[in-house]
Amino acid sequence: MNIILLGPPGAGKGTQARFLVEERGMVQLSTGDMLRAAKDSGTEMGKIVADVMARGALVTDDIVIGLIREQIETVKSNGFIFDGFPRTLAQADALNDLLAEEGETLDAVIEMEVDDEALVARITARSTCAGCGEVYNDNTKPVPADGICTNCGESKGFTRRADDNEESLKTRLMEYYKKTSPLIGYYYAKGQLTKVNGLGEMATVKADIATVLD
Ligand code: ADP
Ligand code: ZN
Repeated sequence: MNIILLGPPGAGKGTQARFLVEERGMVQLSTGDMLRAAKDSGTEMGKIVADVMARGALVTDDIVIGLIREQIETVKSNGFIFDGFPRTLAQADALNDLLAEEGETLDAVIEMEVDDEALVARITARSTCAGCGEVYNDNTKPVPADGICTNCGESKGFTRRADDNEESLKTRLMEYYKKTSPLIGYYYAKGQLTKVNGLGEMATVKADIATVLD
């Protein structure tokens, strides 16, 4: 089964996607992670997107659709989780076409609802393990004092994303409301949308998502 996790930055899409990967063997396709990897490895594309991402603006549809196309066409999986994609109506249409070409279906779109103040608080407090990507939060789950990640047991350090600052966050939220939130109506009209309260405990959100999928 193929699903989309939809919601503003900081809604917890990545966290929930990781659970689904671990427990259901699904494959997470995060365009944000792919773009950060391109940036870190210094490819031509990485150079083009670095500045756009740092500002919190959206990368062009062509680039992200190309990244997703490559994955859908080459990766075998018993289910994709689209995380951070689609972010525009053009991307949503492209995804429909790509899945149809592969004889695949889109089985659920899960909207993770959170209020704006919670988003800002979550994002500005967030850091991740450089080794495994485990997410920590200054208030609710501080990085271990001994520097050893509780998930992977290594001490590779904890990093904050370059775009997790208040200025970029304003742009990311504005991009979300202007360009991505119309997808809520789009998938609702197609009868594919389910809403989940993203403000609950991680385990509660996880259980709510499981109810949708099972
Ligand atoms: P967020 O926490 O804001 O949801 P992501 O890791 O999904 O972050 O994305 C980080 C940045 O990567 C975005 O602000 C944007 O610049 C770029 N990006 C990721 N996915 C897309 C997409 N589908 N379309 C356009 N830009 C994207
Ligand atoms: Zn780790």
